[in-house]
Amino acid sequence: MPLGGVRNNGRMVAAPERVDVAIVGAGFAGMYMLHRARSAGFSAHVFERGGGVGGTWYWNRYPGARCDVPSLEYSYQFSEELQQEWEWSEKYATQPEILRYAEHVADRFDLRRSISFDTTVQTLDWQGEAWRVTTTRGTTVAQYVVLATGCLSAANVPRFTDDHLYEGKTYHTGNWPHEGVDFSKKRVAVIGTGSSGIQSIPVIAERAEHLTVLQRTPAYSVPARNQKLSPEYIESVKANYGEFRRKNSLTRAALGGDTPTGPHGACEVSDAERRDALEARWQKGGLLFLGAFNDALTNPASNQLIADFVREKIRTTVRDPETARRLSPDSVIGCKRLCVDTDYYETFNRPKVSLIDLREQPIERFTKQGIVFGRTRSSSASTAIGDEPARTEIEFDAIVFATGFDAMTGAINKIEIRGRDRRALAETWVDGPVNYLGLSVHGFPNLFMVTGPGSPSVLTNMIVSIQHHVEWITDCLARLRDSGLTTIEADVEAQREWVEHVNSVAGMTLYTSCSSWYLGANVYGKPRVFMPLPGFPAYAQRCAEVARDNYKGFITR
Ligand code: FAD
Ligand code: NAP
Repeated sequence: MPLGGVRNNGRMVAAPERVDVAIVGAGFAGMYMLHRARSAGFSAHVFERGGGVGGTWYWNRYPGARCDVPSLEYSYQFSEELQQEWEWSEKYATQPEILRYAEHVADRFDLRRSISFDTTVQTLDWQGEAWRVTTTRGTTVAQYVVLATGCLSAANVPRFTDDHLYEGKTYHTGNWPHEGVDFSKKRVAVIGTGSSGIQSIPVIAERAEHLTVLQRTPAYSVPARNQKLSPEYIESVKANYGEFRRKNSLTRAALGGDTPTGPHGACEVSDAERRDALEARWQKGGLLFLGAFNDALTNPASNQLIADFVREKIRTTVRDPETARRLSPDSVIGCKRLCVDTDYYETFNRPKVSLIDLREQPIERFTKQGIVFGRTRSSSASTAIGDEPARTEIEFDAIVFATGFDAMTGAINKIEIRGRDRRALAETWVDGPVNYLGLSVHGFPNLFMVTGPGSPSVLTNMIVSIQHHVEWITDCLARLRDSGLTTIEADVEAQREWVEHVNSVAGMTLYTSCSSWYLGANVYGKPRVFMPLPGFPAYAQRCAEVARDNYKGFITR
């Protein structure tokens, strides 16, 4: 079952034989790493599997793709000129606009001359003093390697019985054809109702003849309330961008400094006060909905009250009570990443949109024309909702896999990485991605991860986390150079303590109460370990202390 291909628009830049810093990936992390390393006087080269810059925003071209952190925050802050000259048009920029921004950055900072596109890094071998980087096009020796491979860049494509028989078109949201897809007059299925499904479903429904949504677990989604940005608002932010950024970076998720988390727990206020606070956040739209109260992800009773509010919104939005019931999650809100939508629940009021609950009607097998659905004991008499004919096989002209990613470790594990004594990273990580500060792994000298597991990464505005890591890594390399040192590696004891710390912080929250991709639960056979670390400010402080303390917890030579 080949998934729809991606047009290659890259151009070829030969990689040098030797370089100070080899960088894997040309998303926001790899691009900034290149710029920063060069600015600090290192030679640096980027290898990128795709045909252009932008990473996430190069690959995820599905209908409706846009950021859900406000554009004025979801952007670099390292250059005042850049942040003054770039003009975002909407509260949440579309994928094409974000990709244009990435391309602008690449041109403005002359990055492309040091990027080999269409080049996949296959193996990394530690040679005692440097890394041998083997790509699909050749070999480069690098003193340092920075993995800017992305937390959400390895597509998760589940396999189904007989899926090879299916003759219609198939697509994964994270590998969308550059030429776009015309769904008009097509019977389309979307598998998956995470953020990608929830963004694409209303837009695909506009064009498709009929859309069937295949939902395994309902997600909580809050309205985006997307809008054009007024010149006055942009001006007001730009006039004080430094302070705007500073306030954001002091919040747990490094975003939304102008809408601080409420001072109370959800159980500490009256019913009316709670409703007003949640309604105000619902009307404002976006991820900060969960910040109405300060205990949303620590107190189960508070979480339940907030979840009730959203379930009521679903009930009052979706006209068919049975569809509303199926769309209503019963899990902890925020445990899986909160989704942000435009007209998601409203879309199920369209006669041409059906919902199949895979917990009641699991996918049994694929056929030439579509999918055969089974029936669980508990499922109701009807096999489908809306005007879906009551039958077990449904024909589709196209199937969209909005099935997510092998998150945080997937792209790293695709590279065969051998460190000291030729030990494989895959072996070191067999029970989960042990690391120190989410930056480094014992046994793998001079290898850094940007927004790796064990760092706040996906629980934050990722561009803030990316920028923080890139600056920390570059400062570290410069300090080593200035001290006449050539290697750095996480100490095994520091690594052990760090893993314990991440587990204990996560254990104080409700994040570990569901089968999320944060835990690796979406990928069959992946070890279940909570990978990101909640809380950006404390983490950034710890990284600063480690650096000040001569890289405490690292072994340098
Ligand atoms: P990526 O952008 O994923 O780039 C990694 C690059 O590495 C890719 O281009 C990949 O091709 C390349 N690569 C990987 N392995 C290899 C290899 N072996 N050889 C060569 N190249 C390789 N975050 C937010 O904070 N806010 C948002 O609103 C938001 N929206 C998102 C929407 C979508 C649809 C998705 C999927 C993610 C979103 N994210 C968001 C997370 C997003 O991934 C980050 O914000 C950010 O773009 C990550 O940048 P990156 O450079 O670290 O990784
Ligand atoms: P996701 O959140 O992992 O959602 C994947 C969906 O596919 C889930 O509904 C999952 O169901 C379903 N699924 C997976 N395997 C399945 C199977 N075998 N059978 C049936 N259903 C299956 O992935 P995503 O939507 O791509 O989002 C990933 C992350 O990327 C987000 O959490 C977010 O961080 C980022 N993102 C952000 C935006 C944005 O708004 N800016 C947009 C897209 C993505 P289960 O829940 O049952 O596993």
